[in-house]
Amino acid sequence: MSTEIEIERFIVEQGFPAASRADARAALELAELTREGKTRMSSEKIQRAAAALREVFALHCQSQECITWAHQTGKIVLQAENKQTCHRCGGSENSRAAQELLESGIHRLVVVGGSASTREELERLLGDSTIELRLVDGTHHRAPERARADLEWADRVLLWGATELHHKVSKQYADIAATKFKIVHIPRRGISQLLHAAVESMRRRRAA
Ligand SMILES: [Zn+2]
Repeated sequence: MSTEIEIERFIVEQGFPAASRADARAALELAELTREGKTRMSSEKIQRAAAALREVFALHCQSQECITWAHQTGKIVLQAENKQTCHRCGGSENSRAAQELLESGIHRLVVVGGSASTREELERLLGDSTIELRLVDGTHHRAPERARADLEWADRVLLWGATELHHKVSKQYADIAATKFKIVHIPRRGISQLLHAAVESMRRRRAA
C-alpha cells in the first residue's frame, strides 16, 4: 500500500523559501509528477520529485563555496531555508558528522526510516566511504528474516523515529534481544543528529 504526502510540505522540507514554493510546484507539474489542483502525491514519487527539483533549482546555504557553485550550475539559484537542504553540502554539520562516524570504526550501518531525500543525502555523505550502508524504507514492510539478516550483518541499526518510520517496521528490529546493543533509537530528525547518535553508541560500547 502506498502512502501519500502533502506536496506543499514536501516542498517546504526540500528547503524552498516561501517566495519560490509556487515555482517549485510548477516544476513538479511540468515534470508530470503532479497536476494542477492536487495537494497530495504518492510517497513513491518523492525521489523522482526531489530529483526533478534539483534539475531546475540550485539551492545553496550561506557558505561562499556553495553560493559560487549554485551560480555555476546554470539553474535557478535560491538560498535554502536551512543549510541542511543545501544541494551542494547538505549543511556542513552533516559532513562533519559523517567524518566522525568514519572515525568511530563502524563498518556496516543500517538506517531504518527517513525520507527518500534524506536517504539520498546519506548515500551522498557515506556512499563512497569505507562504511557499507543499507538504507531501509521505514514505510514498507520488511520481512522478519530480512530484518534479522540486517541485524546480524550490521554494526549498528539506526531506527530513525520522527521520520517516515512505521511502528510495524521498527518493531521487527527492536524485538530481537540478542542483538539489542546494535539498535539505536533516534527520536530526532536531522541527519547530523542521526549520525551523532551512531557515533555515541559506538563509543559507549567501546568504553563498556
Ligand atoms: Zn552548502
